[in-house]
Amino acid sequence: MSDILVDIKGVRKHFPVRGGFLGGKHDVVKAVDGVDLQVYRGETLGLVGESGCGKTTLGRMIVRLEDPTAGEILVNGENILVHSGDKLKAFRREVQMIFQDPYSSLNPRRSAGSTIGEPLLIHGVTYGENRAEDVARLMEKVGLTSEQTDRYPHEFSGGQRQRIGIARALALRPKLIIADEPVSALDVSIQAQILNLLRSLQEEFELTYLFISHDLSVVEHMSDRVAVMYLGKIVELAASADLYKKPLHPYTQVLISAIPVADPGRKKQLIAAGGDVPSPINPPQGCAFHPRCARSMDVCTTVVPVLKELETGHFVACHLYD
Ligand code: SF4
Repeated sequence: MSDILVDIKGVRKHFPVRGGFLGGKHDVVKAVDGVDLQVYRGETLGLVGESGCGKTTLGRMIVRLEDPTAGEILVNGENILVHSGDKLKAFRREVQMIFQDPYSSLNPRRSAGSTIGEPLLIHGVTYGENRAEDVARLMEKVGLTSEQTDRYPHEFSGGQRQRIGIARALALRPKLIIADEPVSALDVSIQAQILNLLRSLQEEFELTYLFISHDLSVVEHMSDRVAVMYLGKIVELAASADLYKKPLHPYTQVLISAIPVADPGRKKQLIAAGGDVPSPINPPQGCAFHPRCARSMDVCTTVVPVLKELETGHFVACHLYD
C-alpha cells in the first residue's frame, strides 16, 4: 500500500490566546506542532491521543475548516491550501467530515431527507433519476428507510442521527472521510453497529478514513495503521497489529495498558503516567511527555526527540531508542 492520498508536511497550527501582563505579548497554543504524516489510499489511519493533543485540529485542517500556521497539505498530490473558487468547491466534494455529536451537527429544523440532500443541492449534483431517489438510496445504504425522510433529528435515536450524518458525508461520493470521534457520544451497543457500517461503506465506496479517537480500543478494530499524538506531535506510528502488540513509546504503553481487558482471565499491568496533560500554551521543553514519563532521562528534558523508523513501518519519537 504505497499510494499516498494525503501528504501532511511539517504542519503547525498555533492559535494566539489572550495573555501577557497589561496587554503584553499574546500567548500561543501550539495545537499542532510540526506534523509529517501520510494517509494511503484505501486505508483507515487511526489518530489517537488524549483530548487537547491536536488530533481534531489536524483533521479540521485536512478538510480546510482551519488553515495551518505553517506547512503544506497535499491531497492527490495537490496543495489544498492554495485552492480557491471552483478548485476549492471540487475539493470539498472529495473530502468530508463526520462529527462526534450527531445531534449538534444536524440542523434541528431540517428533515433527514433535506439534510442528506443538501450537499447535492449545493453542488448541483444528481447521480440517479433525481435528488429524491439519491437521498432514498443513501438512506438505505446507511440502514435508514425512505419512510424516515421527512422526520426531524429529535425523532431519531443517537445511532440513527449518526447514520444521517454518515449519509450526508457520503452524498457527494467523497474519496476521503475524516471521522472525528464518530462513536464517542453513542452507547457501547450502538458503537459496534456504526463501526460495522463504516467498514462496509469503506469497501463499497472505496473510501479512505482518517479515524480520530481518544479511545484506543475503538481505533484498534477500525485501523490499518495508527498514529499516536501527544501535545501537537506524532510520537508513534505503526501498523495497528504492531502498535498494540509492541508499543514502543512510553506514552503509547500507558494508553494501551489502560484499555480494559474483556477476558477476566487475562490480566494486564496498568502503567501509570504521572499527572495530567500539560498545557499546550507552554509545553515542557525537550520531550513534551517527560514530566509524566517513568523512563525520563536527562536528555529528555532538553532535546526534542524526532520520529524515527525503528522497524519497517514502525516509527517512534523517543530517546530510549537513540
Ligand atoms: Fe520518556 Fe524520554 Fe522517551 Fe520522552 S524521550 S518518552 S521522556 S524516555
